[in-house]
Amino acid sequence: MTTKRPPTTLEKMGLNSPMALALHLPSRYEDETELFTIEEALGLGRFQSIQTQGVVIRNQVLFRPRRQLLVTIEDDTASLQLRFLNFYPSQQKQMAVGSHVRVRGEVREGYLGAEMVHPIVRAVTPDAPLSASLTPVYPASAGISQTIIRKAVLQALRDASLKESLAEFLPPKLMAEILPSNDWPPLQEAIVYLHQPPADANTQSLLERTHSAWRRVQFEELLAQQISLKRAHAIRRERRAPSFKKDQPKTKASKVSSSIEEGLLKVLPFQLTGAQTRVWSEIGLDLSNAFPMNRLLQGDVGSGKTVIAALAAARAMDHGYQAAIMAPTEILAEQHYLKMREWFEPLGVKIAWLSGSLKAKEKRLAQEMIGGGDAQLIIGTHALIQDKVSFAKLGLAVIDEQHRFGVRQRLEIQQRVGSELFYCHQLMMSATPIPRTLAMTYYADLDVSVIDELPPGRKPITTKVVKAARRDEVIGGLHDWLVKGLQAYWVCPLIEESEVLQLQTAVESFEQLTKALPDFKVGLVHGRLKSEEKATVMAAFKANEIQLLVATTVIEVGVDVPNAALMVIEHAERFGYAQIHQLRGRVGRGSADSVCILMYAEPLSLAAKERLQTLRETSDGFVIAERDLSLRGPGELLGAKQSGDAMLRFVDLQRDAWLIELAQIAADRLLAEHGDLVERHLERWLGSRTEFLKA
Ligand code: ADP
Ligand code: MG
Repeated sequence: MTTKRPPTTLEKMGLNSPMALALHLPSRYEDETELFTIEEALGLGRFQSIQTQGVVIRNQVLFRPRRQLLVTIEDDTASLQLRFLNFYPSQQKQMAVGSHVRVRGEVREGYLGAEMVHPIVRAVTPDAPLSASLTPVYPASAGISQTIIRKAVLQALRDASLKESLAEFLPPKLMAEILPSNDWPPLQEAIVYLHQPPADANTQSLLERTHSAWRRVQFEELLAQQISLKRAHAIRRERRAPSFKKDQPKTKASKVSSSIEEGLLKVLPFQLTGAQTRVWSEIGLDLSNAFPMNRLLQGDVGSGKTVIAALAAARAMDHGYQAAIMAPTEILAEQHYLKMREWFEPLGVKIAWLSGSLKAKEKRLAQEMIGGGDAQLIIGTHALIQDKVSFAKLGLAVIDEQHRFGVRQRLEIQQRVGSELFYCHQLMMSATPIPRTLAMTYYADLDVSVIDELPPGRKPITTKVVKAARRDEVIGGLHDWLVKGLQAYWVCPLIEESEVLQLQTAVESFEQLTKALPDFKVGLVHGRLKSEEKATVMAAFKANEIQLLVATTVIEVGVDVPNAALMVIEHAERFGYAQIHQLRGRVGRGSADSVCILMYAEPLSLAAKERLQTLRETSDGFVIAERDLSLRGPGELLGAKQSGDAMLRFVDLQRDAWLIELAQIAADRLLAEHGDLVERHLERWLGSRTEFLKA
C-alpha cells in the first residue's frame, strides 16, 4: 500500500497545476505603488486604503476597554495612530519606538483622533523602493495567506508549460471578424497583466473587471460555456425517448374507448385559452420526437399551467407510459394530487401519491405500484427524485416551480426497455421568467413555451401598502370583507433565522384574529403541521368552512381557492420580490375584485421601500423577475448554493451581457469551421469541471 501525503491547502482549493494557478485571478488589488505623507493620508485615506510611512514615537499596550496595542507614528507633516486588537509579541517588537514602518490601511475617526485599525505593516527604511505593480489580492480560503498564494502564482506564471497551455489558438481571422475592436490582448498577456498590473494601470477598470485584459478572459470563459451547451444540446438529440404521437395511441385499451387525452378535454370545466392551446401544441410536438423533451413552460401565477401538465401526462399515458408530476412542497404536491384525482379518476386512471411524509408502509405500497407499473400517474414532492424511486416505465416527468430545485437537481431518468436505453421527456414549469442572460447561458439547452394570457374573467389585483401601525384598521376592513361572504388569507412574517419564532408569531396572529373576528372561523396552517393536518385545514378552507386562513409561507405556491380574494401580508418588507409575487397570485382567481395588502413595519430600508413600491405598481412577472435578478444576482435565482463551481468564474451575467452574444457567434463558427480547436478550448477552461455541460 502506498501512503499518500495529505493535500496542501492550495491543492484543496483546486490550485494543483500551473494552469489552475494562472487562472486563479485576483479578486481585487492593493496599491503599494504610491506613498503619501501622513498629512495626505489623513485626507485621502478616509475613502480608500492608502500607503504612508513614519517613525514610531509611541508603543503601548492598553487593557481598557480590552487588550490592545496602540502605536503612534509620525513624519515631517503629521502623526497617525495605529490600533491592533489582536497582535503578536513579534508585531510589538517590529513597531518598537524609533523603528521606521510603512503602513497601509484606511483612516477613520477613533477615540483619540484619526487612526488606522489593523493596517498592514512592514518595517522598511524610508527610501525602500515602492512596488512596481499593483498588488493582487486573491480569493483565498481559511488557513492560507496571500503571500503563499502570490508566491505560488508567480512561480506558476514562470512555468514553461504555461506557454503551451495559454497558447493563442483562436484563429485571428475569426476573432477579428467577431470582436468589436481588436484591442484585446492575447490570452497569456492578459493573464499575466491581471496578476501583475503595472503601476500605471487603470485600477478602476481592473476592479470593475471591464479592462480589456478581463474582457479577453471573460470572452474565453463564455466561449467554453457556449460550446459545452451546444454540445449538451447535440447529446440530448442523440438520446432516445419514446415518441408520443397524437394520433397513434399504442395501448389496446385506448383503441376501444376514447383516449385519456380526449376524456380529459371533455371533463375540463373550461376551454383552453389561446395561449394554452399554443403551448400545448408546442409541447405535443416535443413529445412526438424520439429524443427527450427539455422544455420550460413559463406562465405567470394563475395562468393555468397545471392543465397543460395534465394534458402532457395524458398523452404519455395514452401510449402506455407512466407520467410523474413533482412539486417542491407538500402542499403544492397535494394540490396537484387533488386536482389530478378530480380530472383523471373518472377516466379510470390509476394515480399514486408519494411524499416524504408518508408512513413507511404507505410508501412501500406506493413504490410497489410505481415499480410494478400499476400506477399510471405519480404525484409527489421532489422526494420522487431524491429517494431514487424506480419507475416501471416513466415516459414524462413534470417538475413544477423548477427554479426551486436548483441546477443540480435536474433529473436524468434513464430506463431500459428490452435492449434499448431511453430517457424520459421533461417538462419544467415556472412562474418566474428566466431573464434573457440566463436563457442564453445556463438554460441555453432549454426550450421555452410561454403562457402570456390569463384565463378569462380574471380581475386585476389591487395592491395596497400599509403601515403596521394601521393594523386595527386593516382588521376592520377584513371584517367587512368576510361579511360579504368572501374569504381571505393572512400571511405571517417570514423569519428566516428561526422556524420556531416564525411559528410563534403565526400562532399569535391566529389568536388575535380569532378574538377580533368572533363571527368567523379562522384557521391556521404552517410548516410544522403533519401533511394530513395541513390537508384537513386546506380542505376546510376550500369548502368555506374556514373563512380566514392564517398561514406561514407554506401557501406560497399553487394554492387555489377562488373565493379567497383578499390577502394580507404582515411584515411584507421581509419578503423578496418573487415571494410576494407568488403569494399575491393566490388571490385574483375568482369573480370578486381582489386586494392584496402589504403591511410593513418601520423603519423601512431603501431597498425594501423600492420593492414594495414596485410590487404595488406592477403585477407583471417579467418586470418583477428582472428587478429581482438585478438585486440578487443570478446565482440565487438558480439555486447557486447548490450549483457552486458550475457558475462562471469571471463573467457577471449582467455586466457582461453583451459578451454572451459574441461568444455565441464565436462558438457556432468554431464548431463549424475549427472542430479541432474545440476540444482544446474546453479542456483549457473546464478541465474536470464538466458540471455545466448538463445545464
Ligand atoms: P398556475 O399557472 O399558477 O399553476 P393553475 O394551473 O393553478 O395556475 O390555474 C389557475 C386557475 O385557473 C385554476 O383554478 C384553473 O383551474 C383555472 N384555469 C386554468 N385554465 C383555465 C381556462 N382556460 N379557463 C378558465 N380557468 C382556467
Ligand atoms: Mg401552479
